[in-house]
Amino acid sequence: RVLAVETDCLFCKIVAKEIPAEIVHETDRTLAFRDINPQAPTHVLVITKGHHADAGAVADADEGLADEMLKAARTIARKEGVAEEGYRLVFNTGAAAGQTVFHAHLHVLGGRDLRWPPG
Ligand code: 5GP
Ligand code: ZN
Repeated sequence: RVLAVETDCLFCKIVAKEIPAEIVHETDRTLAFRDINPQAPTHVLVITKGHHADAGAVADADEGLADEMLKAARTIARKEGVAEEGYRLVFNTGAAAGQTVFHAHLHVLGGRDLRWPPG
């Protein structure tokens, strides 16, 4: 299968192994690695290997792809030992919501008390 790749995209470069990352999980169409600036003891980003700008684009692309990201997040939460106590999944979608990397990524946060609302 041919994946869409954006040559100037940071996360496409991580998929292509042009930029190193601490990979914690991989599936056919997803890759997960530790956030470079962690906001919690567990802070992993689940991305699609193909380029999709945000969560909405993932939803439009293929319904099974969003499901694969969610299943990857659940597996990571279990592996990291936060599944029982609780963890947070976040898609910042669009600049006003704090999205800074426009290659869809699901934040998996855990290992500390997480307040709500986040502010
Ligand atoms: P956003 O603000 O778009 O929801 O999240 C982007 C996330 O990517 C941030 O939490 C940021 O720390 C992380 N990030 C940015 N550049 C890199 C990088 O080069 N490597 C890794 N592992 N994470 C990155
Ligand atoms: Zn990309």
